[in-house]
Amino acid sequence: MSEKKMKPDTVAAHAGRDPQRFSGLVNTPVFRGSTVLFPNVHAYENRDPDDYKLMRYGIYGTPTTFALEEAVAKLEGGHAAVALPSGLAAIVAALAAFVKAGDHILVSDSVYQPTRNFCDKRLRAFGVDTEYYDPLIGAGIAGLIRANTTVVFCEAPGSLSFEMQDIPAIAAAAHARGIPVLADNTWGTPYFFPSFERGVDVSIHAGTKYISGHSDVMMGLIVTNEQHWLKVRRAVADYGYCVSPDDCYLALRGLRTIGARMRQQQQSALEVAHWLQARPEVGRVLYPALDSDPGHAIWKRDFSGAASLFGVVLKPASEAAVAALIDALALFGIGSSWGGFESLAIRADPGKIRTATRWNPGGPLLRLHIGLEDPADLIADLEQGFGRMRQAG
Ligand SMILES: *Cc1c(COP(=O)(O)O)cnc(C)c1O
Repeated sequence: MSEKKMKPDTVAAHAGRDPQRFSGLVNTPVFRGSTVLFPNVHAYENRDPDDYKLMRYGIYGTPTTFALEEAVAKLEGGHAAVALPSGLAAIVAALAAFVKAGDHILVSDSVYQPTRNFCDKRLRAFGVDTEYYDPLIGAGIAGLIRANTTVVFCEAPGSLSFEMQDIPAIAAAAHARGIPVLADNTWGTPYFFPSFERGVDVSIHAGTKYISGHSDVMMGLIVTNEQHWLKVRRAVADYGYCVSPDDCYLALRGLRTIGARMRQQQQSALEVAHWLQARPEVGRVLYPALDSDPGHAIWKRDFSGAASLFGVVLKPASEAAVAALIDALALFGIGSSWGGFESLAIRADPGKIRTATRWNPGGPLLRLHIGLEDPADLIADLEQGFGRMRQAG
């Protein structure tokens, strides 16, 4: 049976494994190494610089790295993948692969803040002009494309404001002008969003999140279609990025269970989100998986499921009251990142950094990540948190 026809859970369990190559072991072991010895001068001097599956030097990876890269690429439906030391490194390398001084790039105004930081500080210093666009622009992106535009960058939904983007419409407009579409697919994951079927050319992941899934590893991945593979892979090599085989092993171990975890976390997130929608303290819940969300129709059309990360806009409340709510939570940790097995809660204010659009949700914003705890316990925890919020307010 070809892997193309297999369902995502089957691909996640089988892709990137070849037990008979590794003493029958189910998992590709951790291969450590820097120097790789060649059998003779001819083999060493004639190694193919574009063969990124050839064992030639530690910086290009070992069989452990290749196993992770192959599994992620197959799950998402891309041509090939490359691992990087963090999600942010993956964003940086992917953007850098497509720009030179004098170029113009289009980036969603809802983009992950460190992506904006890289564009505004580093790319600008190198002579690349970033223009932010309304995440809801859809086919209207055509009106912003200039003669020197070389990238359209998407993120759906925005990881703080949760606006959905019409990626197929954006991709059709960009492709009509020969421009590649890069997307930060950390929320969608290779499991719930088939980037390449939706028109994305280069998909970027913080593997730190659901792919690894256990809050114990930093990982980035770039998956590309065939057309853009060598351009991206060579850029990653030129920048000298490489990832330890131990981290690749952990990320691949996480990937094996991504389906079971994400389905369960989605179900719990929906339960918690529905409960929150009915609370008097809550203005609205920002979660494309909810019928009431403005991005729901696009989400339903393009995604096969939802990450367990969403926003909660509270009715106007003092800063002290919101902090009291979060501080009172016993099961939700306070910290960066998400996609692990445990729940998290932070306060966020994405409106502050926008430049192309105004974003004012009408009250304080919480971002919740729902883990694998029983949702009844999470709801009870939030309920007692709201009690503390009332006392503080
Ligand atoms: C966390 C995150 C990143 C960056 O990943 P790191 O591994 O933390 O560098 C990129 N994009 C989104 C949407 C994220 O949430």
